[in-house]
Parts: sequence; structure tokens; C-alpha cells
Amino acid sequence: MGKARIAVIGAGLGGTVAAALLQRNGFDVRLYEQAKVFSRLGAGIHLGPNVMKVMRRLGCEETVDAMGSHPDFWFSRDGKTADTIAQIPLGDYALKTYGARYVTVHRGDFHALMASAVQPGTIDFGKCLKRLENNGSEVRLIFTDGTIETADIVVGADGVNSKVREHLLGAEPPRYTGYVAHRAVFPASLLGDNPYDMCAKWWSEDRHMMAYYVTKERDEYYYVTGVPQAEWPEGVSMMESSRDEMREAFTDFHPDVQSLIDVTPSVTKWPLFERDPLPLWGRGRIVLLGDACHPMKPHMAQGAAMAIEDAAMLTRCLIEMGSADYTGAFALYEANRAERASKVQLVSHNNTWLRSNEDPAWVFAYDVFDVPLASFSRQIAEA
Ligand code: FAD
Repeated sequence: MGKARIAVIGAGLGGTVAAALLQRNGFDVRLYEQAKVFSRLGAGIHLGPNVMKVMRRLGCEETVDAMGSHPDFWFSRDGKTADTIAQIPLGDYALKTYGARYVTVHRGDFHALMASAVQPGTIDFGKCLKRLENNGSEVRLIFTDGTIETADIVVGADGVNSKVREHLLGAEPPRYTGYVAHRAVFPASLLGDNPYDMCAKWWSEDRHMMAYYVTKERDEYYYVTGVPQAEWPEGVSMMESSRDEMREAFTDFHPDVQSLIDVTPSVTKWPLFERDPLPLWGRGRIVLLGDACHPMKPHMAQGAAMAIEDAAMLTRCLIEMGSADYTGAFALYEANRAERASKVQLVSHNNTWLRSNEDPAWVFAYDVFDVPLASFSRQIAEA
């Protein structure tokens, strides 16, 4: 094979980072995205030191640093009393101990930055993958608009309802977890004089609210919840919620939480889905990453982080093995990602992360480009 043509399906956080890293390492990449344009989704996102080390490799660390808030601590608070139940040092401590900063940003700003990190013209918008055909010597990508493209390698970064996963493992919808997440972003001026934590998770037995700033200037505040809800209508990706619904869900929470709800201009509600760890991450010329492969509850704030780490490890393995040996590269990639991603899925499912004063080093200190590579069995990879 000459220079391998790599098609990445889905320009979310994992897909854009994969494309940008692969291009910086000389690979020939096209990125296909179903959306016609990106919108600035009203949400925040945590970027731990493990992600910021990937940003360093991308040349984006300083820009992300300048964009986001740098919480001094992750506070875990008792939802009713506001008592501190855990206080995890971040700020300068994170830089010194884990090798990079902990940043909280607006998801839309971060996604726009990642989309701009790929070479201009790489993303084909309005291209919704319908199915794949692998004829052994190349893969045909058939899109819903009737167009067909070909590639030597296909990376499925197409999220929780991945068509690429479906090609590898058959149609099976992800499992609704019985939990929803409310999301609201609003001007921090609405908080009044009440000194809110830079980053705090308010806990009760069966629900929580995570709240933090999403800009360096701390002029936007964000919260995201995890609240039980038995049913979710099939095929609906999100819906409007309301202050009344929030008040009902958090009725016995502390007055600081009630005040947050009182000043909320608008709030949306999202279903949370997950899957059990997949029996395989790739086959032949096709491989998965991110939510396509291991969707999880967002309760560790590490879902996108895992997609970004996957993107970085996949790049590393393609460099290590060479794209002609894609089977070896994909097996090396899975051998170096499956255990960590599955562990993060499990902890996210159990929603125990940083509820007590645990050591977060196994997540934050990880450097995907530096960690020694585990080996793989070629017999299994080619079976
Ligand atoms: P996605 O970001 O879902 O991207 C998939 C892309 O593929 C999309 O652009 C989609 O349009 C495109 N696509 C889908 N199907 C097709 C198709 N057929 N053809 C072409 N394109 C297609 N993670 C964190 O690390 N930190 C957090 O703080 C955090 N908070 C969260 C809060 C909530 C409420 C939720 C729900 C999630 C949160 N996450 C967080 C998790 C994170 O959002 C996901 O894990 C992450 O977005 C996964 O990235 P991805 O690239 O795999 O998939």
C-alpha cells in the first residue's frame, strides 16, 4: 500500500483529535461528519491533566489554558448540608503532580478549537455514513446522500449510535441507564454575591449536581446533573427541562443549589446511555474509538478524555507499526486501551469518583504518549 488513506467517521472530540494528530504525523486523513455545521452546545467539559498532555502534543495546550477556568480544588459536598466530604487539590498541585493543568471549559469553544486543529478542508460536512463495505483491498463508505468514498483504513469516531460499530458487531442500541443529565450554562453575574466553588459536585444518595466555571474570566457558570428517570422516549436526543422540574428533583438540597436553580434562565435534559465493554475494537481495516466503542455515564467527566486518549494511542500505534500493518497497529491499540477504558466505564457507572478523598493519579498522571506499550498477540489479532 502507498500512503494509506484514512477516513475518520465523526468530527466530535475524538474524531477531530484523531485527524489532527494523524495529520501532524504525516498521515493522509479525511473526516466525514453528518452535521451540516457545528453549533455551540450549551455545556461545559472538564479537561484533566491526562487530556492536557495530548493538547501539548497538538500544540493547543496554551490556547486551552487561556480559554478555560483552572479550579483550585474539586470539592465534593453533601447535597443537603454543603459540608465538604472530599477536597481534591487541582490548580498548581495538578501541574506539579500530574504534569499538566486541570481546566474546565465551554464544550463548544473546545470543540471549535479541535475542529480548527485539523488542516483546512479536511472535514466533509453533511456526510452521514449509512454503511460500510469491506472488499479486502479497500473499504467503501456509503453515505445517506448516495455518495460513495473509499479508504484504506476507517476509524469509527461516530459516537454512541455508531454505524461503524454496527458494521463490526451488528445492530444493537445502547442501553438507557435510567438516568438523565440536566445541563445549564448562564452568565456568572446571575450568581450575585454568593461565592460559588470553582468546581463542586453536590451529592445525595441517588443524584448529584456538578457545577463549575467554563471560562478563564469566570463569567459563565455551568451545571450538569445525574438524576434518575425511569423511561426515556426512543429516538429523542434531548429535551427542554424547567426550573420547576429541577426544583422537584433537588427539593431537599442545600439553599446554594436552590439559588443556582432559581437563577437558571434555561435548562435542557439529556438521556445517559452506556454499553458493556465490546468484544472487539476493530477488525480488518476498521477500528473504533471513543463513545462508538465505550459509551459511559459522564459521572467521572472522562468520556471525552477517553476518546481523546484513544485518538492519541491509535496515532502512536500507527506510527509504531506503520499503516501497512494496520492489523498489528489496531491490535496494539486495543491492547493498550481496553483495560483503562473499561475501568473508567465501570467507575463512571458506579458514580464513586472523587466522592471521598481518593488519589486520582491513575487517571490524571497518565501520559498516553509516554506510557510503556503493552504487547499483543498477533495470532489473536489476525484470527
Ligand atoms: P461524539 O462527541 O458524540 O462525536 C461523534 C460525532 O460523530 C458527532 O459529531 C456526530 O454528529 C458524528 N456522527 C454520528 N453518526 C454519524 C454518521 N453516521 N456519519 C457521520 N458522522 C456521524 N466527557 C469528558 O471528558 N468530560 C466531561 O466533563 C464530560 N461531561 C459530559 C456531560 C454529559 C451530560 C454527557 C452526556 C457527556 C459528557 N462527557 C464528558 C462525555 C463526552 O461528551 C463523550 O464521551 C464524548 O463526546 C465522546 O466523543 P466522541 O468523539 O467519541 O463522540
